[in-house]
Amino acid sequence: MSKPKIVVLGAGYAGLKTTRELTNKLSPEEADIVLINKHNYHYESTWLHEVAAGTINPNQARFMISDAVSPNRVRLIYDEVVKVDKDEQRVQLENGEIQYDYLVIALGFKSNTFGIKGMEENAYSIVDIDSSRLIRDQLELQFAKHTTENPDEDLTILVGGAGFTGIELLGELAERVPRLCKQYDVDRSQVKIINVEAMPSILPMFDKELVAYAKESLENRGVEFRLDAPIKECTPDSFIIGEDNEEIKAGIIIWTGGVTGSPVLAESGFEITKGKVTVDGDMRAPGEDNIFILGDCAWVMDEEAGKPFPPTAQAAIQHADTCANNIVALIKGGPMEKFQFDDKGTVASLGVTDGIGTVLDGTELKGKPAAAMKKVVDNRSLFLLGGMKIILKKGKVRPF
Ligand code: FAD
Ligand code: NAD
Repeated sequence: MSKPKIVVLGAGYAGLKTTRELTNKLSPEEADIVLINKHNYHYESTWLHEVAAGTINPNQARFMISDAVSPNRVRLIYDEVVKVDKDEQRVQLENGEIQYDYLVIALGFKSNTFGIKGMEENAYSIVDIDSSRLIRDQLELQFAKHTTENPDEDLTILVGGAGFTGIELLGELAERVPRLCKQYDVDRSQVKIINVEAMPSILPMFDKELVAYAKESLENRGVEFRLDAPIKECTPDSFIIGEDNEEIKAGIIIWTGGVTGSPVLAESGFEITKGKVTVDGDMRAPGEDNIFILGDCAWVMDEEAGKPFPPTAQAAIQHADTCANNIVALIKGGPMEKFQFDDKGTVASLGVTDGIGTVLDGTELKGKPAAAMKKVVDNRSLFLLGGMKIILKKGKVRPF
């Protein structure tokens, strides 16, 4: 009998971890494994706000996929996935196609602009290495132009949305802007960092005291907040907000107002809810025996809360373990397992040395302990995805 072929789409948290688990659990005689990704590198999506602000080098946030999985064991294909043809058990790529017996879809997220007029065209967003590096470069260009070409160049940085990504980006900007000011001989008072958020509070998932701490920490470093201010439109140089259509002008605009699943899902005819597929407890797409959907492409129901778990890297890595075990069960026989989320807590950074978080048993952290915990989390993820070799190359070891 021919060996089953497992095809994994996406080498992010969910896809790379699934692939590594499968190589540990299945011998080359038991299954062929193929991993398909747009680039030949994996990037840490959770570090992209640092790339965007320019507080880390883009290369620190990525590593070669072939350093994490052996090309002798896994066939690596670097190509763009266009569509899945479920009936034919085939994946269409930009430059070819491939058959599968088992399919894992882990293609991650894209920015969601909720149809806000002009947002897609006029705002930058943090999606991958390229889009994040573009923000860094654009920011620097703005300062360079101000110094060399046009002293009236608007140095206001507008950030739309005060969820995790927005707040973590603001923390990094608060560190980067003073450095850019020094580098380009700009007075700090000429640069504004303004956040616009529709809700009355930033980061509403944290308790009030931590939220107040985070807001004050950012304000003390020059961030201005406009809360309760839904953005209605984004023009090439402004947000239009609120009932009275107030205009806030800026030189650079970044949208961090939300994400949704890969467009490949809809293109492939899966039943979509808010851009993602609501998967069964075993991480399979409903009605599909051999297709698993993981990470930010999936809604996984938290039955106790009656709503899906938030899409995070922490969850994506755990989806991968369940998925790999279930593929092994399907191939070798044995019971399928149900996904159980093991919540290890949440930490939001506010720059290199500050942060807030709730960890493990509900312990609350703020300031340097939270920032240190964030680095532990970041390094743990590198370890799970790439092992010790990757930690040594890319790990966060910067002292405060
Ligand atoms: P990803 O990690 O995004 O991987 C998807 C992969 O698929 C990528 O390699 C991509 O290049 C590839 N791909 C996409 N489309 C195609 C295609 N058509 N063809 C081929 N390849 C494709 N979560 C946390 O738990 N903790 C945090 O601290 C945290 N911080 C974050 C900070 C930022 C700035 C952002 C944006 C998100 C953060 N998140 C955090 C959320 C977390 O990054 C996501 O939940 C996580 O990346 C989802 O993992 P994934 O494997 O589904 O997708
Ligand atoms: P989000 O959905 O968590 O936050 C988006 C924010 O934008 C919300 O506060 C929302 O009210 C605001 N917004 C939406 N429309 C708006 C409008 N028209 N005008 C003004 N504000 C508007 O999105 P995110 O921050 O990109 O996070 C995405 C996912 O990634 C989340 O599940 C999050 O948990 C995860 N994440 C986690 C971390 C971490 O754990 N440290 C960091 C980043 C992202």
